[in-house]
Amino acid sequence: VAKPDAILKADGVRRSFGGLTAVDVDHLEVQRGTITALIGPNGAGKSTLFNLLTGFDRVDKGTWSFQGKAVNGLSGHKVARQGMVRTFQLTKALTRMTVLDNMLLAAPGQSGERFAGAFARPVWRRQEAANRERAMDLLRRFKLDAKRDDLAGSLSGGQRKLLEMARSLMVNPSMVMLDEPMAGVNPALVQSLLGHITALRDEGMTVLFVEHDMDVIMGISDWIVVLAEGKVIAEGRPADIRSNTQVIDAYLGV
Ligand code: ADP
Ligand code: MG
Repeated sequence: VAKPDAILKADGVRRSFGGLTAVDVDHLEVQRGTITALIGPNGAGKSTLFNLLTGFDRVDKGTWSFQGKAVNGLSGHKVARQGMVRTFQLTKALTRMTVLDNMLLAAPGQSGERFAGAFARPVWRRQEAANRERAMDLLRRFKLDAKRDDLAGSLSGGQRKLLEMARSLMVNPSMVMLDEPMAGVNPALVQSLLGHITALRDEGMTVLFVEHDMDVIMGISDWIVVLAEGKVIAEGRPADIRSNTQVIDAYLGV
């Protein structure tokens, strides 16, 4: 469905693994400044689609543009520099680092992009200071600042999700893609996470997220896209999706 102000437009995005077509999306647009939910059964291709769009997996076919610029074929770091990021679960290596170091590692220029040599050093130092400041601002925002020197592995499930979100914001993106941001989170913290997501949207951020809890989806989404067997089978406002029998058969009924 065409959107009046699409921040992301994708066409003919396909990805197969062996004989299995994981993603086969003819057309997808995401409206700027909305919370859009991507829903569908397990194995529908949601995570694969995230990986493809953000440059962390390679498509077989397809083109997509972000803020009017073609970004298909770009590496994950280059896509992130254009302002589109996905969150990642903290790896084992990251759990052994402090919360603040996790943030600093997610800063722009941490992927071998930095200049080497003495000449560049003062530039770096200014960049480092700016990164630290941004990291601390974000940690305060997500109420993790008191944990800055704790190992990320010591955080609760909900705090880890907050850290994953905070890390993704280090590059100052225009759009964040959250893959099951509520998974493994204590119900008491779900409301707080949802509050952060809607606050980001209210500040103008575009949010695309994958979630299974229908109450959560219906409660915070401006738009819902339903994926089944790699294809977009329906999209619409929450009320329309709720009453769509095709969706109920493919997803809500299971
Ligand atoms: P979802 O996130 O909607 O649950 P995925 O995108 O993870 O679904 O997976 C879609 C399909 O692609 C599944 O059948 C899955 O087994 C398969 N798949 C995903 N990644 C790989 C991979 N790296 N190698 C082989 N098959 C994969
Ligand atoms: Mg998934």
